[in-house]
Order: sequence, then structure tokens, then C-alpha cells
Amino acid sequence: MKLISSIKKLCLCCMEEHEVSFVEVEETNTFKGKKLYYKARYEYCDKADEYISNEDMIEYNYFSMKDEYRRQNRLGID
Ligand SMILES: [Zn+2]
Repeated sequence: MKLISSIKKLCLCCMEEHEVSFVEVEETNTFKGKKLYYKARYEYCDKADEYISNEDMIEYNYFSMKDEYRRQNRLGID
């Protein structure tokens, strides 16, 4: 898990105000039968030890996965 930034705000995970980390993690997912490893972004609540994603992150993570799928197809990796 790589820390990108952190900001003190109302955490939507535990509903308390604290430093919420914005992080990048290696994610694994299967898309159209291919196992993909790609970078995904989340907010992380260290109080609940949980990842949270808003719409922007869901979109970013989806495109990140699709990019990796296209990259593998170009390289011809099965
Ligand atoms: Zn929290």
C-alpha cells in the first residue's frame, strides 16, 4: 500500500473526523477470463482498517483495470 496523501476530514467509513489516507494498492481481478494486476486507489480508514471508494475512485480503478487488460492483449499474454 502506497500513501499518496492524507487529509483530516469526516471519514465516511467510521463517521468520525480524523486523518484519512489516500492510497494506491496493487489489486487483482479477473476480467473476461484474464487475471489482471493493476493499481487501484482508495481512501483508507486506519480506525476501521477498511478501504473506502467514492465514484471518482471506482471510475479510476475501472479504467486502470481496462488499461491493464488492453496492455496484456497487445503483448499477447494469456
Ligand atoms: Zn475512519
